[in-house]
Amino acid sequence: MLHRYTSPQCLLCGEVGKLTYEHKIKGSPLANRFGKQELYFGSKDDFFIGKVKKLQSPKSKFLKFESPICEACNSRRTQRADRQFDSLLRKLNKAYETGIDPAQVFTSGLFYPGGEASLDLHRYFAKILCNFLADSECPIPERLSTFAINRSDEDCIYIGMEPNKFLSERGGLSAEFLPAEHKGLSIFATEDLELSHILSGVSFGAVIIYFWFYFTSSEKAELKSEYPDVYRRIRNLVLEHRAKLESGIPV
Ligand SMILES: [Zn+2]
Repeated sequence: MLHRYTSPQCLLCGEVGKLTYEHKIKGSPLANRFGKQELYFGSKDDFFIGKVKKLQSPKSKFLKFESPICEACNSRRTQRADRQFDSLLRKLNKAYETGIDPAQVFTSGLFYPGGEASLDLHRYFAKILCNFLADSECPIPERLSTFAINRSDEDCIYIGMEPNKFLSERGGLSAEFLPAEHKGLSIFATEDLELSHILSGVSFGAVIIYFWFYFTSSEKAELKSEYPDVYRRIRNLVLEHRAKLESGIPV
């Protein structure tokens, strides 16, 4: 139910082949959005204290995951998913520019729920979650990886969105100055410290898209019995996080 393939295996399919690295922030929308502008990389705080890193191009290794995927998984198996993500960004930008509620992009038109385009779009987010799990040395649910590489149609991804608060927080900053960003990987647990779901997010403009995946009870049981190191690590992270929250330390 879970697998943990490591280099030189592809993190998605486990095969050993020509290895490549997936973008944390996709290159083509970066190029579309920022054109020939110089690109800088860093955390939000880094930007405000001038500690950002200048990148040579949208293909910089700093924008990529560290765990490898094979060429087939980075091309033909996921091409349709990549294209739908590009379409989504175009549609969200257009909605923003024309004053239409961006939520409509997910409820009607090309991405109507359950449609083929929506399924492929969800595959893109499944692939990103798999990459985050691999980089965190966590096992990957088979359901998530097989869905990502088009070997299953069982959609296990949920999507939500919210306006990018970066705009309101910085007092009237125009959307064109917004950085592209990813939200890393967040792990959620229930009250009794049981793993619940993982979540990430991405933004190329005025809207942040969130996507997440729920673990089944069998996947959670396998994590506990077959990957006790990861199980303990997650449990400790959750406990640390809760202790900080209770003591009022900002997290
Ligand atoms: Zn592969």
